[in-house]
Amino acid sequence: MANFQPQLTKRFETKDSHTLKVFLETGGYASLKKLFAMTPEQVTEEVKASGLKGRGGAGFPAGMKWSFVPKNTNKPVYLVVNADEGEPGTFTDRYMMYYDPHLLLEGIICTSFAINCHTAYIYVRGEFVEQIKRLESAIKDAKAEGFLGKNIQGSGFDLEVYVHRGAGAYICGEETGLLESLEGKKGQPRIKPPFPAIVGAFGCPTIINNVKTLASVPWIIENGAKAYMAIGTPNSSGTHIFGLSGHVNQTGYWEMPFGLPMMEFIEKYGKGVKGGKLKAVIPGGSSCPVLTAKDCGDLTLTYESMKDHQTMFGTGCAIIMNEHTDMAKVLKNLTHFYRDESCGQCTPCREGSAWEDRLLKKIIAGEGTSKDLDLMLEVADNMEGKTICVFSSALAFPVRSFIKKFPADFEKYLVKNTVAVPEKITTI
Ligand code: SF4
Repeated sequence: MANFQPQLTKRFETKDSHTLKVFLETGGYASLKKLFAMTPEQVTEEVKASGLKGRGGAGFPAGMKWSFVPKNTNKPVYLVVNADEGEPGTFTDRYMMYYDPHLLLEGIICTSFAINCHTAYIYVRGEFVEQIKRLESAIKDAKAEGFLGKNIQGSGFDLEVYVHRGAGAYICGEETGLLESLEGKKGQPRIKPPFPAIVGAFGCPTIINNVKTLASVPWIIENGAKAYMAIGTPNSSGTHIFGLSGHVNQTGYWEMPFGLPMMEFIEKYGKGVKGGKLKAVIPGGSSCPVLTAKDCGDLTLTYESMKDHQTMFGTGCAIIMNEHTDMAKVLKNLTHFYRDESCGQCTPCREGSAWEDRLLKKIIAGEGTSKDLDLMLEVADNMEGKTICVFSSALAFPVRSFIKKFPADFEKYLVKNTVAVPEKITTI
């Protein structure tokens, strides 16, 4: 950490960081010289060797994903940027696009070159009005200076980038739901296979990457995979923008290498838990299984440590809850959210999310029994792994982990409808 140099946020505090002038003055678009001296295959191999994982939540290796695009296809290849950041508790891509839109464009150029793409789309959440304005003006300025359009910087490589505004559905953050929406249809996820790298936007091979994933690529091209691997841990290389929200004295986001202990993150960056002792942490977006304070004792901000603790790294934006938090009511917020955001195609998801929400509402109203709590767990089992996309599992995980890790918070609401039977009955 001592010698750590920010890669993604280094311009955030510079005045007019979003302009092409400041970007160029601070080393922007420098990777392109190296990029165009490489072959597309070499670029993909370099990113593969860097260990860069997708930062949107799934953590799939970026270079490997690019290598799935068929070679010598006679169809156009598309790159689609997933900038539909909508995961509860997650708020970093919006700052990336607001403060440094050209870094995202530089990453788009590098990635498009690697996958032989000449048209890229940035699918942005519609509410990000200011980000959209900055992206559009960055595209215009980059084009005027020959960083986009025909024959970029005399390389012979052409690329057009378009901004597409989403209409505000959480499920459009799922990559195939996003593609449907981009094509002007209802944002409902597609059955896979075929995966988007083979049949994606408009029936053509398509790579979908998150904002921070792409913004990480120029540094890798400039400094090499080895230098990137030297930051973080062997299985979680590089840096990430980590976020903190909820019961901490200081909420916010910070770029740092992977590997910091979770407790140090909360104490040092969040200035400690607000309003009491730590009770629970949702480590990377609402769909990650929740952790107790005890679980966090040896937890680090890495993909591998999250997996060892039976949760997920997700988006790397943690939600912190203090000892006075009612976990049943927190889960109620989530069941309500997922019930509303289910696209409705799959029965286990559409019906399951509504059942979970209704059952928990009944429990919190003091009208539920232990059978209702068991039924919630049974419904969660039936929601996992049986649907078109992972949305359904993304509700099953918190339901199961909240009830199993914090049973007292649910049991206190249950109707005591059984009378304790003494072990031995003594007859007189
Ligand atoms: Fe839609 Fe849910 Fe099925 Fe995903 S799991 S496709 S959100 S109904």
